[in-house]
Amino acid sequence: MPDFATPVPDLLDSTHGKPKLLVVDDQPINIQVMYQSFAGDYQVFMATSGAQALSICKANPPDLILLDIVMPGMDGFEVCQQLKADESTRNIPVIFVTAHTDAAQESHGLSLGAVDFIAKPVNPTVVRARVKTHLTLKFQSDLLRKLVFLDGLSGVFNRRYFDQQLAVEWARSVRSNSPLSLIMVDVDCFKLYNDRYGHQAGDDCLRKIAVELKGGLKRPADLVARYGGEEFACILPDTPFEDALAIASELERKIRGLEIPHDTSVAAPVVTISAGVGTRTVDSGGDASKLLGLADGQLYSAKDNGRGRVLGKIL
Ligand code: GH3
Ligand code: MG
Ligand code: MG
Repeated sequence: MPDFATPVPDLLDSTHGKPKLLVVDDQPINIQVMYQSFAGDYQVFMATSGAQALSICKANPPDLILLDIVMPGMDGFEVCQQLKADESTRNIPVIFVTAHTDAAQESHGLSLGAVDFIAKPVNPTVVRARVKTHLTLKFQSDLLRKLVFLDGLSGVFNRRYFDQQLAVEWARSVRSNSPLSLIMVDVDCFKLYNDRYGHQAGDDCLRKIAVELKGGLKRPADLVARYGGEEFACILPDTPFEDALAIASELERKIRGLEIPHDTSVAAPVVTISAGVGTRTVDSGGDASKLLGLADGQLYSAKDNGRGRVLGKIL
C-alpha cells in the first residue's frame, strides 16, 4: 500500500464540511420540502429554472443535483444533457425527481446519465437515504480520479499528471501569448543520503521536500509533481523568466533552511537541491519537450557548478 502522508487530505476538500446539494424545481413549495429534509446535513442551493441551475453548476459545482423534469423553458432532460456534455460538470451525479414516473421516461433519464429516479411526492426518509448513497459513491470516484494522478510517497502530483499538464499549459501559453516557466529540481547527493541515513529516512526527506516545494508555489495554477526518484518538477503558467528564477532560488533557500543534516554531501552539511529553470516566451519555437530539455540541461549545469544552486535560460 502506498503511504499517503500529510499532503493528501487537503486534496479531498469535497469531503470536508457539508456536501453541497442543488435542488432544481420550478415550484417553490417542492424546493421548500427538500430544503427541510436536507438543510441539517447539507449546504442546499436552489434553482427554479434549468438555466439558473446550469449557471450555479458552472460557478459553484454542487456534489449532487436533485432535478425536476417538467419545468417551463428548459426541461430537466435538457439540463442533464448539458451537464453531461461539459467536462467541468460531467461528474456531478443527477437524480431526477418527478411526478410522472413511467418506464419510458425513467429509462430516457438514465440513458442521459442520471444516477437515479425518485417519484413525487417524495418520501423524505427515502430521498435522504438515496442521496447519501449516491454521495458516498461520488466521493469514492472523486478520490480514485485524484489518486490516479498522485504520487503515493510524497502526495504531490505524479509524472503522468505532469506530462499531461505540461502539454495543456504549453498549448495555453502558445494560444494566449503568455510566458510559461518550468523548474526542474533534483536533490543533491541523495544516494549518499540513503547510504548514510537509510532508505526510510530518505523517504521522509523526500516528503519534507515535497511539502516545502508545494508550499513555496503561490498561485493556484502552479503545480509541483514528482518527476522521478528524487526529482521534482514545477509548472508555472503565465510566469516570466525572472520571476521563475526568483521562485526557484526561494525554493532552494527554503529547502536548505529545513536544515536536514547531510554530513556526507559534497554541497553542504544539510540537504540541498539543484534546480534548472526554463521559460517559453512569445518568441520561442519548439514544443513542450524542448522546454523540458532546456530546464533539465540547466539543472545539470547547476550540478556541474557545485550543486545547491539555480540556473536558468530562456527558450
Ligand atoms: P546528484 O547530486 O548528482 O543528484 O547525486 P544523487 O546521488 O542525488 O544522484 P543519483 O542519481 O546518483 O542517485 C539518486 C538516488 O536517489 C538513488 C536512489 O537510491 C535515490 N532515490 C530515488 N528514489 C528514491 C525514493 O523513493 N526513496 C529513497 N529513499 N531514495 C530514492
Ligand atoms: Mg536524480
Ligand atoms: Mg540527485
